[in-house]
Amino acid sequence: MDFGLSREDKLFLESVKSFAERVIAPRWVEIDEGKWSIEEVAAKLAEVGLIGIPLSSKYGGQDGTFLQAALAAEELAYADPSLATPVYMLLETAWPYMVQLYGREEVKGEVLPEVTAGRAFIGIGSTEPQGGSDVASFQTKAVKEGDVWRLYGEKNMVTGVTTILNLPYGGGVIAITRTGKLEDRHRGITVFLALLKRRGRVSPGFSHRDWEEIGRHGLPTGYLRLEGLPVEEAFMLGELNGGFKIAMEGFNLARTIIGAASIGAARWLMDKALEWIKQRVVFGRPIASYQAVSFKFAELYARLESAKLAVYKAAWVADRHYSGDTAFTLQDVATAGAMAKYLAVSLAVEIALEVMKWFGGASYFKETNVARSLLGVLSYYVGAEGAENILKLIIARNIIGREFV
Ligand SMILES: Cc1cc2nc3c(=O)[nH]c(=O)nc-3n(C[C@H](O)[C@H](O)[C@H](O)COP(=O)(O)OP(=O)(O)OC[C@H]3O[C@@H](n4cnc5c(N)ncnc54)[C@H](O)[C@@H]3O)c2cc1C
Repeated sequence: MDFGLSREDKLFLESVKSFAERVIAPRWVEIDEGKWSIEEVAAKLAEVGLIGIPLSSKYGGQDGTFLQAALAAEELAYADPSLATPVYMLLETAWPYMVQLYGREEVKGEVLPEVTAGRAFIGIGSTEPQGGSDVASFQTKAVKEGDVWRLYGEKNMVTGVTTILNLPYGGGVIAITRTGKLEDRHRGITVFLALLKRRGRVSPGFSHRDWEEIGRHGLPTGYLRLEGLPVEEAFMLGELNGGFKIAMEGFNLARTIIGAASIGAARWLMDKALEWIKQRVVFGRPIASYQAVSFKFAELYARLESAKLAVYKAAWVADRHYSGDTAFTLQDVATAGAMAKYLAVSLAVEIALEVMKWFGGASYFKETNVARSLLGVLSYYVGAEGAENILKLIIARNIIGREFV
């Protein structure tokens, strides 16, 4: 077992770190305040090859690994702990990868190079107003009308619709739709790459509005109403009624990289705290000299290290699986991804709350910036890309057995 990075990965990490420190870190608060647009940030990420790391170079990707994507997300989150930048990057790791795996060649050839160039965004249109966890009961319909499919229904909390409309090519969402009967559950689900804007032209048949978020303001999330959005047959991913597995596969990968982003934010919080507890003098001594503080710091530091290893392991499992190693199944990727997100996100929230206590009253004010990070990781704690109980459900089912859970 080797805990070190390969020479190639070390060089990659150094280059991401240097980019993140130079370009993102000095302006992350501007991103969080919407003063530096995510579309401009995306263009910068694309310039240095950080969009679509595991995508094929045929489509402008880096032929990279999920471990590299995890390392990049971690460093981008360290530089932008509000998480807008790493979330853009990680969504553009997982969901375009599903297009690469299951899309038709003409679609991949048209859309993926636009994604890797930072000119298009592919999001996930999963959650519906009646709930996001029970994907097999989704109601958004895809109906074949002549040569095209038309999508009808409501998707909620979809990240990136405004971003799509602002980008020069545009892009769309991987829409999880019902093509079978409701009682067919997961066997009646088909996924499409549903473009909302293509080659600079906005598609007909949808409306949307952004929600006002409490944090991570740099990347908008909103409500999407599908009112007969036309989707060409070629934009179906995989087979008719075979979409449920594709959606789950995308979530598995996204969760692993979300784990990495949460680790990056948690590391930033711990580093800020380390500086602070050594210089904040109360009752005549730095607060780091009180064991109530230093022991808690030690505990969180140790748990952060173990969560980080779980995240890297999940990325490594994904790399083994996708490089064709049959010893690592899709179920292994799912379990590892669920564990990575569960461990890293809940720990990052706990760290943020503890660090805020060490900063005392000052942490309640935006100038200290610690709360911006709490609000960023909180998005994943409350549910984005899988609520905590759903992650536990996946782990329990895969380990104990579906017949029990
Ligand atoms: C910032 C942000 C960005 C988002 N971006 C996107 C996006 O781009 N695309 C998208 O489609 N969605 C997105 N979402 C939505 C997210 O995926 C959903 O919030 C998530 O899937 C949970 O769905 P829900 O909120 O409807 O909760 P529900 O499904 O209604 O669940 C509510 C609660 O019940 C619990 N629960 C449900 N079932 C069980 C069970 N069987 N056992 C125990 N507990 C259970 C859940 O854990 C949860 O705590 C985003 C959310 C946020 C906050």
